Amino acid sequence: MNYQVINPADESLVTTVELTSFEATDEAIARAHAAFPKWRAVAPGERAEILRNFARNIEAHKSELADLEIKNSGHTRGNAVWEVGNVVNTVNYYSAAPERLFGKQIPVPNGIDVTFKEPLGVVGIIVPWNFPMPIAGWGFAPALAAGNTVVLKPAEYTPLTAMKLAEIAHKSGIPADVFQVLPGKGSVVGNRFVTHPLVRKIVFTGSTSVGQQIMAGCSDQIKRVTLELGGKNANIIFADSDLEKAAAAAPYAVFDNAGQDCCARTRILVQRSAFDKFMEHFERAVKNVRVEDPNLESSEMGPLISKKQLETVQSYLDEPVAFTGSAPTGKGFWMAPTVLLPKDAQARSWREEVFGPVVSVLPFDDEADAIAKANDTEYGLSGSIWSQNIGRALRVARAVEVGVLSINTNSSVRFWTPFGGFKRSGLGRELGPDALDAFTEVKNVFINTAE
Ligand code: NAD
Repeated sequence: MNYQVINPADESLVTTVELTSFEATDEAIARAHAAFPKWRAVAPGERAEILRNFARNIEAHKSELADLEIKNSGHTRGNAVWEVGNVVNTVNYYSAAPERLFGKQIPVPNGIDVTFKEPLGVVGIIVPWNFPMPIAGWGFAPALAAGNTVVLKPAEYTPLTAMKLAEIAHKSGIPADVFQVLPGKGSVVGNRFVTHPLVRKIVFTGSTSVGQQIMAGCSDQIKRVTLELGGKNANIIFADSDLEKAAAAAPYAVFDNAGQDCCARTRILVQRSAFDKFMEHFERAVKNVRVEDPNLESSEMGPLISKKQLETVQSYLDEPVAFTGSAPTGKGFWMAPTVLLPKDAQARSWREEVFGPVVSVLPFDDEADAIAKANDTEYGLSGSIWSQNIGRALRVARAVEVGVLSINTNSSVRFWTPFGGFKRSGLGRELGPDALDAFTEVKNVFINTAE
């Protein structure tokens, strides 16, 4: 069966991709399993060098990969180039891991006790369509570095860059069976990763509802699982912040990638005394967002991924609209950035993850009210706090129940630091120094030295 990949900016056909069948998935998993003993036995320094070579070759294909993502996903040129760079950085960062996968030596009576971090075996990575390259890289880089083999399923809409990355990996010295990309359906390939006993771990990024099914499926085999799910993130703006700066940054915190970002700050909470002033600055900033052909260097927001996604997002426009930006008309899945003023915190657009260029704004009274409103959600992924009182900003940061917070900026993602959610936003952490723990098991070995 084939899948037609459509360019979301103009609805043209990019290419067709063959979908992996159930049987072919089983064959790929068997090959990954067979390749595991040899890959884990590659000397640490050699595995590190192969990964560094992989990173160099991704860098060498930067413009080709960026062009592919622009065509396949409608990402702006600026974003697509950043995304390739993020994969390069992530692979480079974890290339240092094989030589530093330390265990412990633990003092015990009558002997010596040491621990080892052992790879798991075959790791199944399931990727969504919103950031096809970085999310794939956050999974495969630490998984491969720790000595696992990988089967990876990109989202149906956006398979092209993952397929290209696998090709580059193989040319860089990673054996074909060690890293396989299997384009296909979630219900076929993704589900088989969950049910196949030789897949020892699932890394899933996607919607909370599918994540829930995956977690339930993994329980059958006590399969290890990392879940990166949805978000309904608050951008909390205190009256004592640099209001102009907060307002100028706020559109990009939610309209970047056309709002199709689990970290999008879709709930803006503004202290009541500063509300009107903030909205004035914010309106100017929203109207300045350049929504245009993603191929242009100047483009700041492209189209949504699909007609279906556009219709879903538009179904949230049932609250009063404060103002909108602009968007191209004609072919493509375009939508203007839209700012809503919901009646109250029960509005659907305030509570549900919209995953499109829609943001809602509500006032709050004081610090306690800001924290209560920010935490009034089932999600807990990311958020921002704007205040020049650093004591307050830190107090609020400690009280907001999310995994990734930023103060006086909206940027959440750094490959050096842990990323993941509280509550229904997920389970486990990716990136940073500890991500390797999610791809290894601790083995304890006691050596008897008593006579
Ligand atoms: P989705 O859950 O529909 O699909 C994600 C992936 O899972 C796709 O590859 C899909 O084919 C696969 N899949 C679907 N059903 C499956 C099944 N039954 N078994 C196994 N695999 C299955 O999500 P989406 O629409 O592609 O992505 C958008 C969602 O991803 C949003 O909710 C967003 O918040 C979330 N997301 C979260 C993060 C994060 O790090 N927390 C990052 C990006 C996206």
